[in-house]
Amino acid sequence: MTVNGKETANVAQFNLILLGPPGAGKGTQASRIAAEYAVPHISTGDILRSAVKNQTPMGLEAKRYMDAGDLVPDEVVIGIVKDRLQEPDTAGGFLMDGFPRTIPQAEALDAALESLDRAISKTVVILVDEEDLVRRLSGRRICRGCQAPFHLLFNAPKEEGVCDKCGGELYQRDDDTEATVRNRLAIYRKQTEPLIEYYDRAGLVARIDGAKTPDQVYDEIRSALGPAGE
Ligand code: ADP
Ligand code: ADP
Ligand code: ZN
Repeated sequence: MTVNGKETANVAQFNLILLGPPGAGKGTQASRIAAEYAVPHISTGDILRSAVKNQTPMGLEAKRYMDAGDLVPDEVVIGIVKDRLQEPDTAGGFLMDGFPRTIPQAEALDAALESLDRAISKTVVILVDEEDLVRRLSGRRICRGCQAPFHLLFNAPKEEGVCDKCGGELYQRDDDTEATVRNRLAIYRKQTEPLIEYYDRAGLVARIDGAKTPDQVYDEIRSALGPAGE
C-alpha cells in the first residue's frame, strides 16, 4: 500500500483524527475508538487542562485563552503534539481529539508525520447542529479522575456527581458557559471548519451524523474505519 506516494511500512497503522465542533461527541467516541483500534487517545484539551491544574508555565499561559474560549497559540499546541508523538505508545497509531484546529496546526502535523515516514489514515468528522451543541455543552459534566464526559440529561451517570468508569468526582468545565460556548462555536466555524476541506482534498474525510445516539454514532465510525485487524 502507498500513502502520499510512499510505501508504508505498516499497513495496519491507524493514524486517526477526530474533528468536529465543541460538543459534537469527540471525547465520548474517542475512548471507544481508542480501545477497539488499540491506539492512544491524544486530547490537546485534556493535556492543556492538566497543565492548568498543575500550574505549569504552559498552563498559566494557556488558561486565559481557554477561559475566554479562544484558541491557545499554535506554537504551544504544536509543541505539545510533537512531544507526544515522540512517546513510544504512538508508534502503532494514534487518535487525535481536538487537534489540529487551524490550518497551520494541520500543516505542522503533516510535516511531523512525514519526518516519521507516516501519514494520516482517516479524518473522522462528527457533525451536529449548533442548537444541539449548546444543549450538550451546557449540561456536560467531566470526571476529574479520567476526564470521561457525561451529560445531566443525555448521558447521566448512574450516581449523581460520580463517574461510572472510575468513581471520580464530576465537575462542570469553566468554559462550558453559554457565552463562552458561543465564542468557541464561532471560532470553530472560522478557524477549524476549513480543515474539513483541507483533508477532503487528500481524500481522507469520513463524515458522521453526530445527532444520533452515542451507540449509533460509534457504529457509523466503525463502518467508516473498517476492521481493527490484529
Ligand atoms: P466534544 O469532545 O466533541 O466536545 P463530548 O464527547 O464531551 O464532546 O460531548 C459533549 C456533551 O454531549 C457531553 O455532555 C456528552 O455526554 C454529550 N453527548 C455526547 N454524545 C452524545 C450523543 N450522541 N447524544 C447526546 N449527547 C451526547
Ligand atoms: P471541546 O470539548 O470544546 O472540543 P477541548 O477540550 O478540545 O474542547 O478544548 C478546550 C480548550 O482548549 C479550547 O477552547 C482551546 O482554548 C484549547 N485547545 C484545545 N485544543 C486546542 C488546539 N488544538 N489549538 C488551540 N487551542 C486548543
Ligand atoms: Zn472517571
